[in-house]
Amino acid sequence: MSESVAVQWFPGHMAKTRRLITDSLKQVDLVVELTDARIPQSSRNPELDQWVSGKPRILLLNKSDQADPEATRRWLEHYRREGIPALSCDCKSGAGVDRFLPMVRQTLAGLLARREEKGMAGRMIRIMVVGVPNVGKSSFINRMAGSRRAKAEDRPGVTRGKQWVSLGKDVELLDMPGVLWPKFDDPLVGEKLAFTGAVKDDVLDIELLAMRLLENLAGNYPGRLEERYKLAGLDGLDGLALLEAVGRKRGMLISGGEINTERAAIMVVDEYRSGKLGRITFELPREESSHESV
Ligand code: GDP
Repeated sequence: MSESVAVQWFPGHMAKTRRLITDSLKQVDLVVELTDARIPQSSRNPELDQWVSGKPRILLLNKSDQADPEATRRWLEHYRREGIPALSCDCKSGAGVDRFLPMVRQTLAGLLARREEKGMAGRMIRIMVVGVPNVGKSSFINRMAGSRRAKAEDRPGVTRGKQWVSLGKDVELLDMPGVLWPKFDDPLVGEKLAFTGAVKDDVLDIELLAMRLLENLAGNYPGRLEERYKLAGLDGLDGLALLEAVGRKRGMLISGGEINTERAAIMVVDEYRSGKLGRITFELPREESSHESV
């Protein structure tokens, strides 16, 4: 196995974000946490649980269009068992987002009934939107609001001002400006974030990233690699051997017949991210650890 990809993190903002979130919690009825369906665990901030405990929460497994549908089904089942309301969606096409508000009303059924008893039935339902950079918060808010209130940004870590976005007469979303970093002390987590593009490529070693991606795919989705790159017998090959095999098949040679592994690496990462290797999930719930990272 190749050494893991080192990811540079920026922990400085966390205290400020915690204060922003905990201060704003008083103003909301529910927190919606967006995660990336390809890495539902690694794309979460582990401290958030403590900060928002006591508030009803819904998890959205976004980018489900890029995730393995069977793995997504298992994650949803896992959260159901844990008693956490969860939905999968694709904020790019909008698939699944229509199930969000019904789930909010179901999750807040007790609160809404109490409000009705007190004659406050029409009171605004306020929802805080949180999630690590690039997970799709702006896209979600845009989808829900049906406007271009929050601009989708391709660059990870771009902050915006705190703003309320109205969704019709009785629901408002709070778009949080703070940057919520995912867990960054585990190199395998950093690596999975890098595969999905949640970390800027210019801080990464692209060849190492491609090697680790290929090792992951060879372990969990060997058929996809065999098919895409016409490879056979992946067993026992390490990341470099896999990268060389791909480069050879694609004729990426430099003088002397050596393989241009940098070009091959850029291509592999690009092909994965543009969906050419199919819908892939990099982690399964812990109780199904056979699919864990190689
Ligand atoms: P934010 O940083 O959490 O606000 O994330 P953005 O909404 O800016 O989205 C980051 C990138 O992911 C953008 O390029 C979006 O177009 C893309 N994106 C967001 N949601 C989805 C989704 O469900 N599927 C896919 N394929 N891409 C998405």
